[in-house]
Amino acid sequence: MKVSVLGAAREVGRSAFLVSTDKTNVLLDYGVLLKREPIFPVHVRPRDLDAVVITHAHLDHSGFVPSLFLSKDMKMQVIGTDPTFDLSRLLLEDMIKISGFYLPFEYIDIITMMNHSKILQYRESISIKNDINITLHESGHILGGATVLAESDSKSIFYTGDVNTRGSNLLRPADLDVGKVDLLIIESTYSQSEQTPREQSERNLVEFANEVVERHGTLFIPAFSVERAQEISYVLKSKNFKHNIVMDGMALKANEIMLKHPSFLRNPEMFRQAIGDVEWVRGWNRRKKLIREPGVIISPAGMLVGGSAIFYLQEVAKDERNGIALVSYQANNTPGRILLEKRVTMVNGKEKRCMADVKQFEFSAHNSRTELFEILDRIEGSPKVLTVHGDGNSCIRFAEEINEKYGFDATAPETGDIIEI
Ligand SMILES: [Zn+2]
Repeated sequence: MKVSVLGAAREVGRSAFLVSTDKTNVLLDYGVLLKREPIFPVHVRPRDLDAVVITHAHLDHSGFVPSLFLSKDMKMQVIGTDPTFDLSRLLLEDMIKISGFYLPFEYIDIITMMNHSKILQYRESISIKNDINITLHESGHILGGATVLAESDSKSIFYTGDVNTRGSNLLRPADLDVGKVDLLIIESTYSQSEQTPREQSERNLVEFANEVVERHGTLFIPAFSVERAQEISYVLKSKNFKHNIVMDGMALKANEIMLKHPSFLRNPEMFRQAIGDVEWVRGWNRRKKLIREPGVIISPAGMLVGGSAIFYLQEVAKDERNGIALVSYQANNTPGRILLEKRVTMVNGKEKRCMADVKQFEFSAHNSRTELFEILDRIEGSPKVLTVHGDGNSCIRFAEEINEKYGFDATAPETGDIIEI
């Protein structure tokens, strides 16, 4: 077997790996790198492919899959879990809707892609041309997220996608029971940094929320619509935050998808309660009133790049009693990063000072450094290792460390590299 690296090499975004034998080609993820204009993975001819696996719905893993279905007579299957298809559709349609840039596909191509979906359960396998066997395992990263085991001719490749081995309030931890591995493709996002322990982030956030509301302010929490928004409302509810919590925007559609797939949740009953107690905001009349009421508003987008978050940001920023809690990663040059670093918002192209108190809290859905090394502690065999999906030097440093600590043949591949096992 061999793996061609079509993206996610020394960068976070456009994950894409082609697993091939002499007669079969299976693509693992085909995502976009979302910058001001999206950057796509290396081109692959759709007719050469036998299957595509989507590990999870985030666009840096799923965002370019519809481009493979521009021809209606395409035979290949798209493999993923049931929630991955529902969430991918939501995020892909949104990408088309908000895109001011060129995308080489349209809504109809998303439908064609969905018509080729092959739903797998966790630990269920599918054979592609009796040659490559694909099994999905729970990844703990987002609802329906999976890692992939690809096996052929007694060799096996394990691709972590994005992984979380400690789980979250909403999700179970990753399932790493995959047997002996010959090639490990592992994400490196936080390989060079530890994150604040989750329990501490949760306590700090709830304390901040109480502080803001007690001085009669409104706390605005911009959050990714899938998972983070729900996780935050769950945290507030489970820590007895007594005041009003409202949720807005695309997070509400994500709520519905999450309620539809209870078996993928760690504790469906508690999730239902937490979401049921939250007010689902619809309509501008309610939005305009909300900004004058003490309480918490949770709304995408997580980096403040769009959605109803823009309205809430501008209004909440006007009053020093209010607060803004950033609970998602803030990429360079996004309004969220600018707010964090300069305490300003952009209104009609002009910088305006933010009067509200701004704080950031770490709630990552990825493994931190220690937990990434725990994967290597637990892996069976002496695999070759590819470190991928990391910014700056993190893939290179991580590969060096794996080499020193375990003696594994570890490298940070570049886009276009081909690795044989
Ligand atoms: Zn992800």
